[in-house]
Amino acid sequence: MSEPESPASGPVRAELVVDLDALRRNVRTLADTCAPAALMVVVKADGYGHGMVPVARAAREAGADWLGVATLDEALALRAAGDTGPVLCWLGVPGEDYAAAMEADVDVTAYSTAELDEIVGAARARGGRARLQLKVDTGLSRGGATAADWPDLVAATRDAVEADEVELTGVWSHFACADDPDHPANEAQEQAYAAALRVVDEAGLDPGLRHLCNSAGALTRPQARYDLVRCGLASYGLSPVPEHRTSEELGLVPVMTARAQVALTKQVHAGAGLSYGHTYVTERETTVALVPVGYGDGVPVHGSSVAPVQVGGVRRTVSGRVCMDQLLVDVGDQPVAAGDEVVLFGAGADGGPTAQEWAEACGTISYEIVTRIGGRFRRRHEHLTQEDA
Ligand SMILES: *Cc1c(COP(=O)(O)O)cnc(C)c1O
Repeated sequence: MSEPESPASGPVRAELVVDLDALRRNVRTLADTCAPAALMVVVKADGYGHGMVPVARAAREAGADWLGVATLDEALALRAAGDTGPVLCWLGVPGEDYAAAMEADVDVTAYSTAELDEIVGAARARGGRARLQLKVDTGLSRGGATAADWPDLVAATRDAVEADEVELTGVWSHFACADDPDHPANEAQEQAYAAALRVVDEAGLDPGLRHLCNSAGALTRPQARYDLVRCGLASYGLSPVPEHRTSEELGLVPVMTARAQVALTKQVHAGAGLSYGHTYVTERETTVALVPVGYGDGVPVHGSSVAPVQVGGVRRTVSGRVCMDQLLVDVGDQPVAAGDEVVLFGAGADGGPTAQEWAEACGTISYEIVTRIGGRFRRRHEHLTQEDA
């Protein structure tokens, strides 16, 4: 399994460094913490921006039992890259190519009898059994069958199992509020999930793997781990419960570092307006560093004048508006020069900022910070194994 890195030509203007050793450590930590439950590492959305294929490979090396993705396309891309282990996808649309899923030995999820009918149709047309999981909606009100529709979905699945058209490999649900451990919805969802499992049991069906937890649930609700936990964010070293525990407290190391080099510095006078709209005005004569990344590279405009950056080893704040290709930092009297390193976020060592801090500054979640960053950043994976390199 390998993936071409972004084309390299000329000096590195800006790069995303993905530390696969950190990812492996996080995966081992999660596997140890959640054992005897098995671990699914969620690699959807290009591995939360970290690169799906290299992340998937490192996750398997570190002991991920399953990989999880949203779309069938993502699952097929894993197969095309050589992954042969269990893979679950969970977001189909009408007309989904379930025959391709069967061909690739990918587990698919049905939320409704309409989806089940399509899956069964593919199994009949192709011959053989589709690997199927069922999702019950226990309160997120997103995917999954409602409690009202669940018995029908279970009954139809039992018929398909008896006809040898599907193999039921799992029954699962998803938390709405697990990032807030005290939220009453967590307990309510656990009870609703247990009730849904009773329906499966009463239908005489073996549910296969039972799973309910995302990263936050896996780390805060041991009683809800069942047979498998699905960890995305925590695998990437970010805290899924940032208001309660830092990634460090959870024993996790952020995997992605976003860095750039200073393109230019200049002296400006007191009262100079920086960037569009002059929303930032210098208080005294100062040095301004131009950093060649912007919202065209996924740096949020909401970071304007609030997000932390580390310039030449010193912590600063973005000064004025983030532009499409660049942003500015008022570095005061610091002797910064073109070519000096700028860290937007990373592991947080040496006082450097983290994706979580960017999220807080921008009024969003760390998931969005790492998943949306990209654009013209060059992505480089560190600590690939011999085979990958
Ligand atoms: C994205 C996703 C996950 C992973 O969630 P994290 O909070 O990143 O651990 C787990 N399960 C499902 C169904 C998802 O869509």
